[in-house]
Amino acid sequence: MMSYIKLFFINIFGYYELWMLWLFLFIALTFIITIIFILNRGEEYKKFNSISLYNVIWKWRYKKSNIIYLWCYCPECGSELICDDEYCRSTIMLTNKTTFLICRQCGEIEKGRVIGGDRNYLLRMVRFEIQKRIKNSTYKNEAKT
Ligand SMILES: [Zn+2]
Repeated sequence: MMSYIKLFFINIFGYYELWMLWLFLFIALTFIITIIFILNRGEEYKKFNSISLYNVIWKWRYKKSNIIYLWCYCPECGSELICDDEYCRSTIMLTNKTTFLICRQCGEIEKGRVIGGDRNYLLRMVRFEIQKRIKNSTYKNEAKT
């Protein structure tokens, strides 16, 4: 093993001394640490995975940079909420379209409501709010929930 290392240095520099090996290891290590640091810095926003919007808690995960498994949870008991958007289909007036967020665990109580569209609309709105906070880094100011 050692002779291979010696050969490696001799091939490149023409000679070998022990300090060269240490210098080489030092440079390699610094390089690796820098790479890890740069990669992690870009991923920092991935710690941001919950937010309080429309009076309820939203949680999600990341796959690459995409937001997945986005759903709402009860601010009181933490259970998954039910989206009731039945009402949206019976009306064509945007201002009448309302999605209710209901907690079964708390006794079918309404925890929040969003006016303007159905659950897909709501999820798009929340996703947009999350992405906006990631883009301008304001997620760092959000209170941890
Ligand atoms: Zn609840």
